[in-house]
Amino acid sequence: MDDVSDDFRSVMASVDRRGRRKWVYVHIVPGIWRRRRLVVAYLITALVIALPHLRIAGRPVLCIDFPHSQYTVLGQVFWPQDLSYLLLLLLMAIIGTLLAVSLVGRVFCGWLCPHNALLEFIFRPIEELLEGPAHRRIRQDHAGLHPGLILRKLVKWALFLLVCMTLASAVAALFTGADAMVGGIHIDAAEHPGGALFAGLLTAAMLFNFAWFREQTCTIVCPYGRLQAAMLDRHSLVPAYDARRGEPRGKAAKSAAAEAPAALGDCVDCKLCVSVCPTAIDIRNGSQLECINCLACIDACDGVMAKLGRPAGLIAYRSENQLSGQPRQVLRPRTLIYGAVLAVLLAVSAIRIGSRTDLQVMRLRVGAMPSLVRDAAGNQLVRQDLTLSVINRTGDEQRVTFGLPDDLGASLHLVEPVVVLGPNQRREITPTVDIPEQRLHGSDRATILSITSSSGTHVDLPITLRAP
Ligand code: SF4
Ligand code: SF4
Repeated sequence: MDDVSDDFRSVMASVDRRGRRKWVYVHIVPGIWRRRRLVVAYLITALVIALPHLRIAGRPVLCIDFPHSQYTVLGQVFWPQDLSYLLLLLLMAIIGTLLAVSLVGRVFCGWLCPHNALLEFIFRPIEELLEGPAHRRIRQDHAGLHPGLILRKLVKWALFLLVCMTLASAVAALFTGADAMVGGIHIDAAEHPGGALFAGLLTAAMLFNFAWFREQTCTIVCPYGRLQAAMLDRHSLVPAYDARRGEPRGKAAKSAAAEAPAALGDCVDCKLCVSVCPTAIDIRNGSQLECINCLACIDACDGVMAKLGRPAGLIAYRSENQLSGQPRQVLRPRTLIYGAVLAVLLAVSAIRIGSRTDLQVMRLRVGAMPSLVRDAAGNQLVRQDLTLSVINRTGDEQRVTFGLPDDLGASLHLVEPVVVLGPNQRREITPTVDIPEQRLHGSDRATILSITSSSGTHVDLPITLRAP
């Protein structure tokens, strides 16, 4: 391996020693992993486009409604008061990622990340369709522009723009609602100027990313890739080159030469594994941070081995332990701990969502000071204003009434004796409690405010009536 440069340790493959970017021309090769990833990528793309239109029980699968301070997930409506659900979801995502990484390596990057799915299976194929495969594009770009190439590049950019607009509008529609989309590819600017502006900015960002920035998102910007590297251990699956079998590398003709059949390993140094790599790294140098787990190098090398009549798997998806001839341990302490924590979080979420009542009532601004008033008979009363947030969690209208215990001797006044809440509506109401001063005996008094809805839900809200 004397000819193997150590540059990869100090210089990224996609930049030169002076820090200037080297454009990565990625060869697309067929293979089993590419076919599998293609299915997943198209499912993700279809999901992104369809998501704003999907509904469960008449409500969106996902909608973030900032003006009304509510968000809908899987048809369930949440408000800022439900922040704990969001935190649970976030925790589950983190633990789920840890579990997935410990089991199958950086699976998110290569398989589930929308950036990679769209770049590898939408944008690069469009580019290859219009400008030809990588080796031709290299030649063309070095030869300079001519009218035919300019036309092809213009068509490519137009298609890129169309795809970016469609995807950006679908994302923006998660905030504005699917009704704001026109023709499925842009947001109605007259009705939804904020949504249209967001979609426009997102379109520009996506175009910049997919047409030019590309692999730098993974190698420079994304912090997730850096973190994932720290989560891997010797049992995690990674694309790995079998140096014991491949080295010393050398051209196939030499390898097959009768005079030195055993002098060379199976790697014929064709560098196809490098030219298919979206981050331009050479996996033969070992696992590297820039590897996004796309497995294209495995497809490429298996193809080469097949042509040479040698067994596949010179580069394969395996753990470091497997590479050194030891068995891979799937169940190990970290996977069991992650799995157990994830199961607990799932159970807690299911119980919390299952026990959500149709009506949520919260007292706001408990610091309101009481005042002294007199009733028509001249009795001294302590008046306390309450501010309540009432949320109807059902898809039907609810009529809500309020009451205090009879033995309290207090009266409750509301502008509307029956508060009407539309489906999934939140309202703030300000009932007033008048209580004879002598009932408080000069100190605060705890009691229960009863709230009953027309759906039969009953909520007892503990409140404290403060002494003046
Ligand atoms: S594709 Fe396989 S044979 Fe060709 S350089 Fe890479 S590891 Fe060696
Ligand atoms: S090294 Fe292989 S798996 Fe990693 S990014 Fe490059 S081609 Fe994909």
